[in-house]
Amino acid sequence: MLMVKDCTTVWHNCLQVIKDNIGEQSYKTWFEPIVPLSLAGNVLTIQVPSQFFYEWLEEHYVGLLKKVVFQELGSEGRLEYSIIVDQGNDHSKPQTVNIPTKKVPAAVANSYSPERSFLKNPFESKAIDRHFFNSQLNQSYTFENYIEGDCNRLARSAGYAVANKPGTTSFNPLMVYGGVGLGKTHLVQAIGNHIKGNNPDKFVLYVSSEKFVNQFIESLKTNSVQDFANFYLLVDILIIDDVQFLSGKEKTQEMFFHIFNHLHQSGKQIVMTSDCPPRDLKGLEERLLSRFKWGLTADLQSPDFETRMAIIQKKMQSDGIHIPDNVIEYLAYSVDTNVRELEGVLISLIAQSSLNRKEIDLELAKAALKHIIEDVETEVNLDFIQKTVAEYFQVSLDSLKAKTRKKEIVTARQVAMYFAKEYTSHSLKSIGYHFGGRDHSTVIHSVQTVSDLIDTDKKFKASIQELQKKFKVKAV
Ligand code: ADP
Ligand code: MG
Repeated sequence: MLMVKDCTTVWHNCLQVIKDNIGEQSYKTWFEPIVPLSLAGNVLTIQVPSQFFYEWLEEHYVGLLKKVVFQELGSEGRLEYSIIVDQGNDHSKPQTVNIPTKKVPAAVANSYSPERSFLKNPFESKAIDRHFFNSQLNQSYTFENYIEGDCNRLARSAGYAVANKPGTTSFNPLMVYGGVGLGKTHLVQAIGNHIKGNNPDKFVLYVSSEKFVNQFIESLKTNSVQDFANFYLLVDILIIDDVQFLSGKEKTQEMFFHIFNHLHQSGKQIVMTSDCPPRDLKGLEERLLSRFKWGLTADLQSPDFETRMAIIQKKMQSDGIHIPDNVIEYLAYSVDTNVRELEGVLISLIAQSSLNRKEIDLELAKAALKHIIEDVETEVNLDFIQKTVAEYFQVSLDSLKAKTRKKEIVTARQVAMYFAKEYTSHSLKSIGYHFGGRDHSTVIHSVQTVSDLIDTDKKFKASIQELQKKFKVKAV
């Protein structure tokens, strides 16, 4: 009886033999993605994902392939490749070109290297050994030294889940967003380090979007886009930082879209960060944005007072430096913008302490802070507001911070609080703290009282306007 062989069966039989002859990882990488397309006479056509893929097969497995084709189709048997040259998109099908079996000498020797130190010629080895790849991870970013607080609870726990089960939770992709210095990079690097620690053979890659864009542009210039793509398709866990940087870069986005889809479909984990929520990412293609929504989006907020205290304590502890509790408290109250700034203040404080051979105390902390705040902020600072308002109302500076309830002092204090709210980025809590440890509801009440008086009392309004001029001049 004549058996009509079909391409699927033939290829299936080939795979059985191939499987027994090479390592599991190589099999998965190089043979599972192949799709048998047709069997015409003695020509078996298989589809491979890229030119590079084809070259790799021919370079490394040509002997094995010849052997299995011979076993299946006899001495006349031939193999033909159909190579996908364009992955296509929602509207168009992938484009392919067909190439008959032929040896491509040394094609792989010129394999892609986005950056030499980065790749260290990974394709040299016969089987893909992911140890060759540099993950670009900074080992000092861990979960252990990432302080948990209300500001980051969801992002942190989702990150932790992903780190323990990359690619298999519903948090794929995981998108972490938040303002500068709030710990996005730290968190996603911690995810990478955790995965790497548990699975040394997984290829974890951290890349900033800026670097991704630059590598892509470079590959366009050197005609090696396919290699660029192939490199990224090998990644098991892709961590891409600051995707807002892809805004408006259409070609790069398109490439990222293909890589994203491929990795996601193969159950690989994708982790991203952005400085704003996905819906506000201007200049990013809708189809890409909709992909981001497949997983989980979690935000990072500014840390609250207690979390800032804990962060300072942890940093000091790991540096082996002791600072008194009242200083920690003072710092945590005063720097409420972001963690990076808080760290900057700490570093400056430690530097000044060692330069001047002085213990870290409140006085030194105040001096250090003044220096930094004047450097980075163009806004009026609290001290200046208090001093100016005290002078204007002819009351002492201390009385603004004291408990006294004398009418003229209460008014001056309320006005100073009003300006502190208006012209500084201090939180209500922090303003209260700087006015003799009052709570935030007192600050709200003061601001309200002053606003009401401005509306109802012309003379009072004029005083406020006069004061305002002093602050405005300084603020520009
Ligand atoms: P982003 O990437 O959001 O701009 P980073 O991750 O670079 O911010 O964080 C800035 C600095 O603050 C880093 O040194 C980081 O270690 C530190 N940091 C941020 N959040 C935390 C946290 N929750 N616990 C400990 N350190 C933190
Ligand atoms: Mg960052």
